[in-house]
Amino acid sequence: MHHDVIVLGAGLAGLSAARDLAAGGADVLLLEARDRVGGRVEQTRLPDGRTVQLGGEVVGRAHTAYLALAEELGLALVPSYVDEPGKITRATPEGRSAGDPPHWFGPGDLAQHERLSAEFVALAADVDPEAPWAHPEADALDRLSVGGWLRSRHASPAVVRLWEIGQLALADGSCERTSLLAALRKNAAVPSSGPYDYEDWEGLRLADGSATLAEVMGRELGGRIRLGSPVAALEVAPGRCAVRLATGETLTAGAVVSALPVGPLRSVAITGVGAARLASLRRQRQAVAAKFTAVYDEPFWREAGLNGLSECEGVLGSTWPQSNGVLSALVPPERYGVLLGTPPQLRTPELLEEMAGMFGDRARSPLACHLRLWGTDPWTQGYVTQWPPGEVMAVGPLHGTHEPPFYVCGSDQWVAGYMEGAVRTGRATAREVLSRG
Ligand SMILES: Cc1cc2nc3c(=O)[nH]c(=O)nc-3n(C[C@H](O)[C@H](O)[C@H](O)COP(=O)(O)OP(=O)(O)OC[C@H]3O[C@@H](n4cnc5c(N)ncnc54)[C@H](O)[C@@H]3O)c2cc1C
Repeated sequence: MHHDVIVLGAGLAGLSAARDLAAGGADVLLLEARDRVGGRVEQTRLPDGRTVQLGGEVVGRAHTAYLALAEELGLALVPSYVDEPGKITRATPEGRSAGDPPHWFGPGDLAQHERLSAEFVALAADVDPEAPWAHPEADALDRLSVGGWLRSRHASPAVVRLWEIGQLALADGSCERTSLLAALRKNAAVPSSGPYDYEDWEGLRLADGSATLAEVMGRELGGRIRLGSPVAALEVAPGRCAVRLATGETLTAGAVVSALPVGPLRSVAITGVGAARLASLRRQRQAVAAKFTAVYDEPFWREAGLNGLSECEGVLGSTWPQSNGVLSALVPPERYGVLLGTPPQLRTPELLEEMAGMFGDRARSPLACHLRLWGTDPWTQGYVTQWPPGEVMAVGPLHGTHEPPFYVCGSDQWVAGYMEGAVRTGRATAREVLSRG
């Protein structure tokens, strides 16, 4: 059967692209490997009615494409964990502290951290997030790591450690392995008063659970989606693209939109696309992460004046309260190997033990736990895009661009992941396809 457009991957990017294509009058088919839509957003419902987010969860006030789509779909937003009363916890092998400054800071460190944060924001103001390659010092900024830049600005080891623990809390990958240009680009995409303003990036969540956005779009698209249909190969040619499924079945379309994460996309055999574009797409790399959630009957951490938010140097990199009594946690890329090396039956008790070290004994006895190994999930193979030093220039200006009739979208094709990146690039790609008829 021949279609106007075939979209690959029913995550938020593929769903929002397919929805807009259908609304624009295109005959669109959406192919999805899994037996559900949503990709990196997924939720489970507890017997008591609460939903638990196993993947993407919070958005920020600067995530305009996501917020606009939620409004169109009639989904309400509420404040996220940033509204939770109490102090942040920081836990390292040698100690633990509540609130700022962290326990390893000495005299002068806080002032230095604030000075460097302001310098970082000022540097970011000169970076165009759509074209970081155009910055006059793009090469030098890209070759430098964030950690290297901090030291070049005379940051103390204590200040570098705060930036590092913050970076691993986001499961983004170490400061020492993150390009300064990539970090500046991310900040420039959502200009803020600090290096990562939590209100701008994470201050909101969907009241019904973030995966509801995908579920609603999935219901709207109905029979235009084929689940359980992994794509194995793609032949791109003007007027007729052929998509081969793992089963051997071939489908054709006038255009193809890939909304696949960069990892699984590398396993799809592609012909008819320029060598430079394929090289750029195929070298994009991803940070691998796991998400752990523990469900309690109430937010017991409040009793100790804590807000459930933490930055930590265990196997976990961070925790935050998801909603009533649910704690979320991330295992960052640097520690993912440690988690995989832990016998499966020991993983949950050991992660709970880390939580108990921060929030007290009650953390050991949740009603339910979920550990989702996104980094080694075959249809995700990651978490967000990772940009080590040199990588922004190496991936280059082809990042996130199209070669009609081959189009790309997805959070990996934005500055650094996020549900905003998925929706923003998905909808922009649909506009581009429709504008070319
Ligand atoms: C643990 C975790 C926490 C996160 N937290 C947040 C957060 O709080 N806020 C935020 O904004 N973002 C967060 N993110 C990131 C955000 O969820 C993602 O960036 C976004 O959902 C990705 O959407 P996408 O459509 O680009 O890709 P995906 O959601 O990965 O969708 C791609 C789809 O392609 C399918 N697929 C893969 N290979 C094939 C194939 N060969 N054939 C057919 N289909 C295929 C997949 O099954 C998937 O459905 C988080 C992600 C994770 C994993």
